[in-house]
Amino acid sequence: MGNLVAIVGRPNVGKSTLFNRLTKTRHAIVSGEAGTTRDRQYGKCEWCNKEFSVVDTGGWVVNSDDVFEEEIRRQVKIALDECDVILFLVDVKTGVTDLDEAVADILRRSKVPVILVANKTDTNELRYDAADFYRLGLGEPMCISSASGSGTGDLLDKVVASFTKELAEAVEDNIPRIAVVGRPNAGKSSIINAFLDDNRNVVTDIAGTTRDSIYTKYEKFGFNFYLVDTAGIRKKNKVNEDLEYYSVMRSIRAIENADVCVLMIDATRGIEGQDINIFQIVQKNQKGLVVVVNKWDLVEDKSNEAIRYFERTIRERFAPFTDFNIIFASAVTKQRIFKVLEEVQRIYNVRTTKVSTRQLNEVMLPIIEATPPPSLKGKYIKIKYCMQIPETRVPSFVFYANLREGVVQKVFGKSDS
Ligand code: GDP
Ligand code: GDP
Repeated sequence: MGNLVAIVGRPNVGKSTLFNRLTKTRHAIVSGEAGTTRDRQYGKCEWCNKEFSVVDTGGWVVNSDDVFEEEIRRQVKIALDECDVILFLVDVKTGVTDLDEAVADILRRSKVPVILVANKTDTNELRYDAADFYRLGLGEPMCISSASGSGTGDLLDKVVASFTKELAEAVEDNIPRIAVVGRPNAGKSSIINAFLDDNRNVVTDIAGTTRDSIYTKYEKFGFNFYLVDTAGIRKKNKVNEDLEYYSVMRSIRAIENADVCVLMIDATRGIEGQDINIFQIVQKNQKGLVVVVNKWDLVEDKSNEAIRYFERTIRERFAPFTDFNIIFASAVTKQRIFKVLEEVQRIYNVRTTKVSTRQLNEVMLPIIEATPPPSLKGKYIKIKYCMQIPETRVPSFVFYANLREGVVQKVFGKSDS
């Protein structure tokens, strides 16, 4: 089970800059103007062979100029609910502000490890100024400069040392783990109910796990599967539901622990920013995906043109990743609920496919021979053989050739090599 680290703090202290440094994302835009950074909520970081996820809570604030204390408080509280380590960022150049104190008040009471980070410590002299932050009552501030990267190695050491997470729960292999994700009101609880109804007796608790187990095993229509974090979805938190990022934060853990994600889209509302945020988390984790356009019973025009329009719009918004199926369903009338589970199972089977080296070469080598790679600087490139890489998240293949530099490694899924 992955650890989740949240970066909190008031606007302009450098959260986004630190996020970029930790996740090495290039696409995020950082600017001196508050609120111009958007695409930067969720990323992966690896340090000392430990991979963990990082969220920048500031990434969800559309217009940071209007961020009120109350908004920041809620952000911090949600981060405390969902994350394993909090990085509380302050700005050594401005010193302690009222907003910093308000955030520190909440964090001091938390059980989640909090690391106080004095950012913008670009010079050694500024280290003296950082001492001022002791009065926030959160221990020694770690001095870093997100802009230059100085101090971030020590910070990462401390982050990794703060992880207390237990090992993954024991779940049976060969059974897909499904996360149902989507915006508030998309119909997540309803589809889970549709999966469960009059079947409560088949719900089995996993032996030896506690009540907060995030996996629950089900059987429906002859499919065996685990639902991830069902309790979390059914335990509604009305207070926070209106926050744009709330359902995104909630989804992270479920997605990370799943094999296949069912992304619920409300047919009556279409695709919104949050859907795309959730989709990106699925995609960054290389999970299987089924898109369910839910509440299909409420849609009047069910013509083929309407269906094609829906499909086209969804794929356009999720481009360049368009390789998923879309199912038009209704959690309430249970129309095509079976199809959803069938598709989950199909994707799971595809993801766990193992192709023998012999079979692979028998199929691939003739194809390569018929359509050989272009020669490089007059040198002929010959693919000798190929094989599947064992133990990857999605089927991945390696091709061996006579000229290393002449071959663009074509790996289906992410290239780890
Ligand atoms: P956020 O609103 O907390 O996400 O803050 P940003 O990451 O957008 O940074 C706000 C401003 O502070 C930008 O102009 C950054 O270039 C600047 N900044 C961030 N980190 C540092 C740092 O370590 N040193 C200095 N001097 N400036 C920084
Ligand atoms: P969640 O917030 O994603 O868990 O959404 P809920 O499952 O609580 O559904 C939100 C609202 O939409 C509820 O009033 C549901 O009854 C309704 N709803 C969910 N799925 C459907 C559907 O397929 N058709 C119709 N007509 N209503 C639905």
